[in-house]
Amino acid sequence: MSTTEVENYPGFPEGVTGPELMERMRQQALRWGAELYEEDVVSVDFSKRPFEIKSEDRTMRANAIILATGATAKRLRIPSEEKFWSKGISACAICDGASPAFAQKELAVVGGGDSACEEAIYLTKYASKVHLLVRGEEMRASKAMRDRVLDSSDVIVHYNTSVEDAAGNAQGFLESLKLVNTKTNKSIPEPLKVAGMFYGIGHTPNTKFLDSQLGIDEDGFIIVSDHDKTSTSVEGVFSAGDVHDKEWRQAITAAGSGCQAAISTERYLQMNKLLKEVKMMDTKDAKEEIEAAKKKEAEAPKKKTHEPAIDADNFDIDRQKHQGQYALRKLYHESPRPLVVMYTSPTCGPCKRLKPMLSTVLDEYEKSIHYVEIDIAKDPEIAESAGIMGTPCVQVFKDKARVAVINGVKMKSEYRKIFSEQLIESSAA
Ligand code: NDP
Repeated sequence: MSTTEVENYPGFPEGVTGPELMERMRQQALRWGAELYEEDVVSVDFSKRPFEIKSEDRTMRANAIILATGATAKRLRIPSEEKFWSKGISACAICDGASPAFAQKELAVVGGGDSACEEAIYLTKYASKVHLLVRGEEMRASKAMRDRVLDSSDVIVHYNTSVEDAAGNAQGFLESLKLVNTKTNKSIPEPLKVAGMFYGIGHTPNTKFLDSQLGIDEDGFIIVSDHDKTSTSVEGVFSAGDVHDKEWRQAITAAGSGCQAAISTERYLQMNKLLKEVKMMDTKDAKEEIEAAKKKEAEAPKKKTHEPAIDADNFDIDRQKHQGQYALRKLYHESPRPLVVMYTSPTCGPCKRLKPMLSTVLDEYEKSIHYVEIDIAKDPEIAESAGIMGTPCVQVFKDKARVAVINGVKMKSEYRKIFSEQLIESSAA
């Protein structure tokens, strides 16, 4: 979940951050006996029973499946989008807004829905001014959101305005936008000078990997039955949340949809005599188990934790994983190994997804690769000198030269490929 503040989730009167809500749900699922595998599903086979689900690391079989793969932010696809992607153009203000490159600069958000309004308000924390570019006569956002935007002296709304293209500065970073008046269809002569442009123009459901094995509508959303809003066209396959929901798309509605899907799944398994009961953990036992796990983690050798290496007293070059700028400088200058640097920010949901995944891949290179995590909010000057305009961003260095940059969250295989290539090159040299 990439939303920062979730204000409308019942039970959290003070609000809760998206990542914290996800962490609490994760712990609750574990308490109930769920086994979690954090990896990308690459294909499914619904023609087989049990169904087959393949990731890069394993093939699993299941008598029933709940699809809850959500939706990904849409892009405008203007001509120079690729050129300025992660160099000023982004689809996630929440992930990328904290970048020092945007601090006290004018920024633009495209869209007139709740997402765009939410992004515009969020960016006022960092920007000197936010321009909201709305292609129509009015915003389609809810009244509450519209009012927040209109009441903010830091947001300027441009109606009947769309983006035709972008231009950059000598360093290759976004500098201005070429705009069009959608009423007259004429270009607006004066370019809009902004250091960042964020898209808030809706989402595309993540259904490609399903390879049309079940009913999907023309926009790619899973079609669910009218009677329970969760059964799909394949018996035993259910859908939950934004992957089918075009309308409500809130954390609470997605959670409710997940609950409906779970109950429908249980009924389906029961009816087909496929239900295997997992004993609910006694609350007392669960508490004890969580406490025991915490204790074990605290006592465990620091293999998987990224303990901060703040200064010379606790920096240990023999350890693979580190945090913070002191470790980065030491390793950059002294490590003979390829160095992987991951830039994160505290509100970045995708960073939370990437960290454990990257950690698993790095475990395979424990003695041959060094790793440092840099929080761009804590170390903004490092992020600035590394040209970070979005998180997560993984950079790989070899012999003090930057040899790879990977923006966003990719499959494990992509990281493995890059790490292995660097090691092969090192041993060949
Ligand atoms: P929406 O589909 O509601 O809005 C998309 C916006 O982007 C519209 O203003 C649309 O313009 C504009 N747009 C689409 N394509 C383009 C384009 N090519 N060029 C320029 N503008 C474009 O998506 P949202 O993600 O905003 O919201 C989806 C759902 O999620 C809604 O139900 C919303 O209420 C909910 N939501 C709620 C939040 C909250 O309450 N905290 C936060 C975020 C989302 P036009 O209007 O002209 O079609």
